[in-house]
Amino acid sequence: MRRSNLRCAPGLLILGLLSLTVVGHVAAQRSSRVRPRMDDLLCFTDPEKTRIVLQFNEAVRNAGEVLYEVHPYPENPRVFYIDFYDLRPYFADQPLPVGDGLLQQVEIDNFPDRNAIRLIFVIQDASIFDRFDIRPDGQSLVIDLLRHGAQQFDAGEFIDQPLMGQRRIVVIDPGHGGSDPGAVSPFRVGGRTIQEKDVNLAIARVVRQRLNATGFFDARLTRSDDRFMSLDDRVEFAQRMNAEVFISIHANDAGNPDRYREARGLELYFLDTAGARRHAGQMLSEMSNGHRESRDQLGDLVIGRASEQLQSSYNLCAAISMAFRIHRYWKAQREGGDGWYRGIFRGNFAVLRNFDMPCVLVETGFITNPEECRHLINPEFQATVAQNIVDGLIVYYHTRERSGG
Ligand SMILES: [Zn+2]
Repeated sequence: MRRSNLRCAPGLLILGLLSLTVVGHVAAQRSSRVRPRMDDLLCFTDPEKTRIVLQFNEAVRNAGEVLYEVHPYPENPRVFYIDFYDLRPYFADQPLPVGDGLLQQVEIDNFPDRNAIRLIFVIQDASIFDRFDIRPDGQSLVIDLLRHGAQQFDAGEFIDQPLMGQRRIVVIDPGHGGSDPGAVSPFRVGGRTIQEKDVNLAIARVVRQRLNATGFFDARLTRSDDRFMSLDDRVEFAQRMNAEVFISIHANDAGNPDRYREARGLELYFLDTAGARRHAGQMLSEMSNGHRESRDQLGDLVIGRASEQLQSSYNLCAAISMAFRIHRYWKAQREGGDGWYRGIFRGNFAVLRNFDMPCVLVETGFITNPEECRHLINPEFQATVAQNIVDGLIVYYHTRERSGG
């Protein structure tokens, strides 16, 4: 394992986060159909890969419209580019700087005559670049540049190492409570319906107890009993505590009865672009009162904090996912597991709209799936889920320490 690869690029630029007007004027051109528009270009680094996410204003999977071609750059093996067709232009003043050891930067070119956007990838160290995967994912296209030897990354090795230093305050947020039950099982288990708020609290209590037992963490719950608490109050609580990390614990609802049997497994969330933009706008207007800095300076400050928060939130999701995927239930089927890990997603949840600390939301499983619901109320399963969250935090702090962050 190459330790140096664990470094995360500081100060990643979230292009277009505040530039709400970037490409709007192009819509004025008359055409039989409005082409999709790329709204954001984002980059995340974790020990396994560097992930570039292209976010569009509409679903690219359904439209099937975003076609692309990959080209090597014969003169320079450290460079390749991907042309995306049938898109509106995307204007960026500067390349997306990455500098995480694998990828140096991504440059963007427009070819309006061909309705094409070109992303040029400049590789930093070809010896650790394995290959890349590209796939549509709803309104986004995900390009993963995989690190050579990344599969050797062993979360278990980190989990067993004690963390040293002053105690770190983390806030664990059991979702819902009181008059708000959250998801409710559409069937009875042992003669009663199962309410999400109770599952969340039971898991959160074990997380707190086990975090505190490490001696490194000082874990606090937003609610330690069955009471209603507003989403804003949960965020404010974490800010008041000066927490370093915020983890909200939930259980899922498939929504549609047709999906009750098929939908199960673990999901991890961090803030999406719409949420980041909304929160950035709100912060900016709050900061404008009583600050002497110009709106541009404040904008840079907010974008800096937003990009740092999104990066660290993604890293926390990645660390927690590694801890879960050691266990048979969540491990991929091709690796001999049951495969109930669904992935890292982005969502516009109010509790994640907080740039003061990394914030993630864990959907521990589906209350609406009969089998998984039985797991979720089983104290042994709850303890495994809780321990994985604890282990994920330990992995997160170890990788952060090694990257010097
Ligand atoms: Zn919930």
